[in-house]
Amino acid sequence: MDFSTSEALHREALEHIVGGVNSPSRAYKAVGGGAPVYMERAEGAYFWDVDGNKYIDYLGAYGPIITGHAHPHIAKAISHAATNGVLYGTPTKLENEFAKMLKQSIPSLEKVRFVNSGTEAVMTTVRVARAYTNRTKIIKFAGCYHGHFDAVLVEAGSGPATLGTPDSAGIPESVAQDVITVPFNNIEALKQALDIWEDQIAAVLVEPIVGNFGIVEPKEGFLQAVNELTHQAGALVIYDEVITAFRFTYGSAQQLYDVEPDMTAMGKIIGGGLPIGAYGGKKDIMEQVAPLGPAYQAGTMAGNPASMAAGIACLEVLQEEGLYEKLDQLGKKLEAGILEKARQYEIPLSVNRLCGALTVYFGEGEITNYDQAEASDGESFATFFRLMLEQGINLAPSKYEAWFLTIAHTEQDIDDTIHAVEKAFQQMQLK
Ligand code: PMP
Repeated sequence: MDFSTSEALHREALEHIVGGVNSPSRAYKAVGGGAPVYMERAEGAYFWDVDGNKYIDYLGAYGPIITGHAHPHIAKAISHAATNGVLYGTPTKLENEFAKMLKQSIPSLEKVRFVNSGTEAVMTTVRVARAYTNRTKIIKFAGCYHGHFDAVLVEAGSGPATLGTPDSAGIPESVAQDVITVPFNNIEALKQALDIWEDQIAAVLVEPIVGNFGIVEPKEGFLQAVNELTHQAGALVIYDEVITAFRFTYGSAQQLYDVEPDMTAMGKIIGGGLPIGAYGGKKDIMEQVAPLGPAYQAGTMAGNPASMAAGIACLEVLQEEGLYEKLDQLGKKLEAGILEKARQYEIPLSVNRLCGALTVYFGEGEITNYDQAEASDGESFATFFRLMLEQGINLAPSKYEAWFLTIAHTEQDIDDTIHAVEKAFQQMQLK
């Protein structure tokens, strides 16, 4: 495959844009470096790059794209918004309509607010929880990504329940000291943290299904125990459903496990591909937010008509009967194909899958927490990534990311992908 135009664009980008990319995850740092592929057009399950190569896409723009690219219903809504004026700075009817749609599909949302990104949504839930409880510390789970604001760019030290250390330059130790990190799926560690810092914890922040060290489901009873222990300590449970909302069912992960958080942050899918975030929760908690309450959050672009229209159109598409069953069928077929070829070519790996999202981890053993995901074989992943790319299969360039299926993927796409997987494994076996 010829990538020469991508390479030229990357050389140019390096002159003007830091690292050549506007988000570090787009760089190919974890898969051996070099120029990332520059895409030019996307439709349905496919990408075409600037060199004319075609790909089956499993990146799904890191989660938002579930209807397939350029879905006609969403495209029409966005075009209509564009010709109607994209930004008013006044309230619009669309905001009410979309807020009602979200509330109907996620019962724990009594009141919502729209913002512009997942980061903003989670950031504000943390602020509101602190305002509501009058406490400062939060607990998060190791390896979970919640956006790039200071309080959550914090990692664990060693030990089951540890005060965080900054995961980025520019974050003061004092901020990190307000964050306690515990391993996912480890209720004892959470209990220990809550015992130690009980009356200081404002909230426990949790991705109900992890999406950022691959797809990792909560063990049975884990989310229920999180709720019980957190509430006993007088703290709030915040779900980060930026990836999970509308990914696995029409609604949120909380419905899948029959648990309700106090607050929920959303993003990605609910914008139909345009910038969006939203947060919501119990009425008395949400009423801490300005102009009703003392917790401030604002935004020039928040609730803009284009994002609202795209989000509404996206959810309308997702209401189609049998859609998540279709994603599950496709996901199941892809998982089975990968596992079969791995057995055939003696490539040790495991697949974590839920519905139309999966992660392939190279190496032995199951993956239920970050330490295990971290220990998975990144070199094999990098080799696999390149071999797939060369065959026109676009994956996220990191061993920690998920493959996201869309309703535009066909059985034929899955067959073609499994064929490419087989060829990749054949070559990996020879090495
Ligand atoms: N939370 C989770 C679970 C995410 O996966 C992400 C983005 N990958 C974010 C928050 C941040 O969202 P955004 O990139 O829209 O700011």
